[in-house]
Amino acid sequence: LARSPHEPEFQQAVHEVLGTIAPVLEQHPEYVEAGILDRIVEPERQIMFRVPWVDDAGKMQVNRGYRIQFSSVLGPYKGGLRFHPSVNLSIIKFLGFEQIFKNALTGQGIGGAKGGSDFDPHGKSDAEVMRFCQSFMSELYRHLGEHTDVPAGDIGVGGREIGYLFGSYRKITNRHESGMFTGKGTGWGGAEVRTEATGYGAVFFAQEMLAVHNESLDGKRVGISGSGNVAIYAIQKATQLGATAVTASDSSGYVVDDAGIDLDLLRQIKEVERGRIVEYANRRSSARFVEGGSVWEVPVDIAVPSATQNEVSLADAEALIANGVRAVSEGANMPCVPDAVAAFQQAGVLFAPGKAANAGGVATSALEMSQNASRQRWSFGDSENKLREIMADIHDAAFQAADKYEVPGDYVTGANIAGFQRVATAMLAQGVI
Ligand code: NDP
Repeated sequence: LARSPHEPEFQQAVHEVLGTIAPVLEQHPEYVEAGILDRIVEPERQIMFRVPWVDDAGKMQVNRGYRIQFSSVLGPYKGGLRFHPSVNLSIIKFLGFEQIFKNALTGQGIGGAKGGSDFDPHGKSDAEVMRFCQSFMSELYRHLGEHTDVPAGDIGVGGREIGYLFGSYRKITNRHESGMFTGKGTGWGGAEVRTEATGYGAVFFAQEMLAVHNESLDGKRVGISGSGNVAIYAIQKATQLGATAVTASDSSGYVVDDAGIDLDLLRQIKEVERGRIVEYANRRSSARFVEGGSVWEVPVDIAVPSATQNEVSLADAEALIANGVRAVSEGANMPCVPDAVAAFQQAGVLFAPGKAANAGGVATSALEMSQNASRQRWSFGDSENKLREIMADIHDAAFQAADKYEVPGDYVTGANIAGFQRVATAMLAQGVI
C-alpha cells in the first residue's frame, strides 16, 4: 500500500478486507509465507491510455481510459467499465480489488478487473458517445478477449455504450466474439436477466437475510438511492415481492413517493428521455422532490443504496437507525462509509456488503459467457431462478464463514473470508506468478 499513498478509495477497500481476514491468516500461515497479501494488493496489470475524440462542434476532446486487470487466478479478468467525471486511478483500483472477492464469491470461475474513463456521457449526443466509445475501444481492444478480459457496464455504461463498444471491437478485430463483453442486447448475444440482475440480486440478498429471522419483504417500506440500472431493477423486484419502494435519486436530489415509485414513469424519464429526477415529481402527484438533501432522511424499513461509493455517511446511518431501519443491502459498490457500516452493525441492523449483495450482476454475466460459449439461450424464468439460487449460495457462504470464525451475522467479515479463501487457495496452488 505504500506504493499507493494518493489512492484513498483503494486504501479504504483494502483496509476493509484486510481488517477482517486476520483469523484466516492465523489458521493458514502458508498464505502469509507465500506472500499472498503482498501480491493480492498489486494488480497483475494496469493500463492507462489517451482517448481523443471530436465533439459535435468539431472541437478535439481528450479523456483518460483505464483498465486494471487485478487478478486472473480464478478465470479471465471480469468487471465493468465506468464512465463518470469522478473516475481516477484510485476509484478504478478500489473497484477492481473488490471485484476479485465478489467474483470469487459467485463460484463462477472469473477473475477481477475494472476499467473506465473520466468521460461524462450526461448531455452528450448519441453521436458523441459513439465516437468516444470507438476511440476508447481502439486502444482497449488489444487487452480484451473471451479468454483474457471480459468487460461489462457500470455507472454511465448502459445498453447504448455497450452496443457501441462491442460493435467497435468486432470491427477492429474482424471477429464476432460474443463472449468478450457481457450486458449485450438480448438480440445479439446478451443473456436474459443480465440487465435486471444486480438490482434483483441485492433485493434477493435482503430477502435471504430477513428469512434467517423469519421475516420477509412483504409490507416493508424500501428506500433506494440512484435511478440507474441497479436502482430501477431493485425497485422492480422489491415491489414484486410485496414491498413499497418509496425513494429514488440522482446527483441533483431525491424523490419520495409514499404511494410507491411508478416504475414505468421512472424508466420513461431516466432510460428514454435521459432526464433528471425532478421530472418524476413534476409528473406524479403523490411524489415530492427534495433538492440536494440526503435520501436517507426518509424513514424506511430496508435500505438499498444503489448510486455510488461513500454515499451513506455516518449521519445518514444514524438517521436510518433512528427511523428503525431493519436491513441494508448494498446495491452499489462501497456506498456506506466505514463508520456507517460499524454503526449499522452495532445497532443490530442486518448489513450486506456490496461484494456479496451486488454480485448478482457479475454472476449473471458469467452465465452470459457460458451461454455465448455453448451457443445456448436460457429463458427469463430459468435465468432468474439461477440468479436467485446464486444469491442464496452467496448469502450462505458469507453467513457460514461468519459463524465459523465466531462473528455470527457479520456478513462483512463472512463475505471477505469466503471470497479471500477461494482466491488464496488458487494463488497458493498456482505458485509465485
Ligand atoms: P447508472 O449509471 O445506471 O446509475 C447510477 C445512478 O447513481 C444514477 O442515478 C446517478 O445519478 C447516481 N450517481 C452516480 N454517481 C453519483 C454521485 N456521485 N452522486 C449522486 N448520485 C450519483 O449506474 P449503475 O446503476 O450501473 O451503478 C450504480 C452502482 O452499482 C455503482 O456503484 C456500480 O459500481 C454498482 N454496480 C453496478 C453493477 C451493474 O451491473 N450495473 C454491478 C455491481 C455493482 P446521475 O445521473 O445524476 O449521475
